[in-house]
Amino acid sequence: MPITLPAEVPGSFDYPEVPVGSILAGAATRYGDRVAYLHHDRQLTFAEVYRAACRFAHALRAHDVEPGDVVAIHAPNCLAYPVAYYGILLAGATFTPANPLLPPADLAAQLADSGAVAAVTFGKAAQALAAVQDRTKVRLVVEAAELDEFSSGQSETRPDVEIDVYDRLAHLAYTGGTTGRSKGVELPHRNVVVNSLQYACWGSGSVPVLDADGNLTLDQRGSEEEYPGRLGTGIGLNLTPWFHAMGTIGGLNVPMLTGGTTALQDGFDPVRYLADAERLRVTQIGGAPALFAALLNCPDFATRDLSSVRALSSGAAPLPHEMLRALARRFPDATINEGYGLTEVTMGATSGPPFRSGVRKQGTVGVPVFDTEVKIVPAEGGEDPLPAGEQGEVCIRGPQVMRGYHNRPEETAAVLVDGWLHTGDIGVLDKEGYLSIVDRKKDMLLYKGYNVYPRELEELLMAQPGVRAAAVVGRKRMDVGELPVAFVVRSDDSVTEDALLTAINENVLPYKRIRELFFVDEIPVSAAGKVLKRELRARLG
Ligand code: AMP
Repeated sequence: MPITLPAEVPGSFDYPEVPVGSILAGAATRYGDRVAYLHHDRQLTFAEVYRAACRFAHALRAHDVEPGDVVAIHAPNCLAYPVAYYGILLAGATFTPANPLLPPADLAAQLADSGAVAAVTFGKAAQALAAVQDRTKVRLVVEAAELDEFSSGQSETRPDVEIDVYDRLAHLAYTGGTTGRSKGVELPHRNVVVNSLQYACWGSGSVPVLDADGNLTLDQRGSEEEYPGRLGTGIGLNLTPWFHAMGTIGGLNVPMLTGGTTALQDGFDPVRYLADAERLRVTQIGGAPALFAALLNCPDFATRDLSSVRALSSGAAPLPHEMLRALARRFPDATINEGYGLTEVTMGATSGPPFRSGVRKQGTVGVPVFDTEVKIVPAEGGEDPLPAGEQGEVCIRGPQVMRGYHNRPEETAAVLVDGWLHTGDIGVLDKEGYLSIVDRKKDMLLYKGYNVYPRELEELLMAQPGVRAAAVVGRKRMDVGELPVAFVVRSDDSVTEDALLTAINENVLPYKRIRELFFVDEIPVSAAGKVLKRELRARLG
């Protein structure tokens, strides 16, 4: 553990060998009538989620969904989602999340690849699913709005199912596919329980315990003073999609452990988001950098009373340094934390210290969380770690690393070597073990044999006055390799292409110079908040 943790929290745990359903069972006994999820005037307490999930689990079993079968949730975040998610897991089945906006061909491919036999869907997504169902094994479709009727009359006791937590998959999660074909990531129950605990305990200063009935809960040790706005406690507004790792673990598992309330939003409207944050006195704001960018650009951000906010957490994509500084000015007393991870490690591997006494280093993604190792190896290949300060590929080892890609042994062998996951991200560790992500290996450009990392240029652009967002991709050129090309969203129309190119190019080595710059209305981002570079490259023709 490269940083000193507060004395009451050990650096390593014995993680109870229980299935994911024990997290919800623990929440129901410990937090009972406290509100778990809130949507307009409807709400579900922790105990209600548990009872409804048990009923749904029995209903699935009654419809011949067997332990080990795969069940998809193809829906946006809604109150039925946590019920369906835990119901699937309590039945001993495997949850596979599908983005409700997936194009039909991708949806069909993903469902077929996962082998899903049943799906929970919602509203418009239902039509998309119906259109491709015959290309999949899905034989049972349940509308999220009709989940209660589907489960009515079923028992509210926990189904008696044997689950080998090291073997039975809890999640079969598909990678975002922003750079290529989406792959199924196999995550046994053990991974999900461990990664949820790693973040819940890290963020709230607690240790895992089993209660007298074998349900998983936390022993809260750190003080509110030391852990401002303890992760997952208090109330947070939810935006991160639950079909993405950050949403599944951060929104469906961590708050169950820590007892936090999650208020759902209908889509994203910064004005309404900020009004709700003030009205509900939210204590946490978490999401991808795209959320923070939208908030910072909304005039209400400066005027709304956000004094209840104690903790901000960002992940899924790089938080530009300029944005971090602006957030720190707006929330001088809150902890601002950046975490890093990928679907292949269940959700996450690193985080900044959420406790007051920890040193937060701006621009880094913190240090490995409990029981997790990070090493940097040469980007060209090799397993020997590079010394601190040298850039290379980030590798991660720990109990949250996936079992492998579903039915893709070769692709698995290419990224998993002796338990070390090769992430495809370029990063650097400092002497104290703090990790910075430089860029994705796949996004790196090669100009006359020199490596150009777009993120460096993006950071420089975003630090310029009048620039709201920027993304850099390569234009292929036979003679030199790839030329850096920038897409820029202006916040001030008087900013010119010449002025920006001069400001950047005078300050970088000649091979990194931006050769073309286009002003655009927005930078395309995925639902999980990642810049869709593939789309930008396609625009270059
Ligand atoms: P996904 O599997 O969809 O969660 O995507 C994982 C990828 O997102 C990683 O391999 C990184 O390239 C990127 N990523 C996640 N968190 C961060 C972060 N804090 N900073 C930079 N990149 C990140």
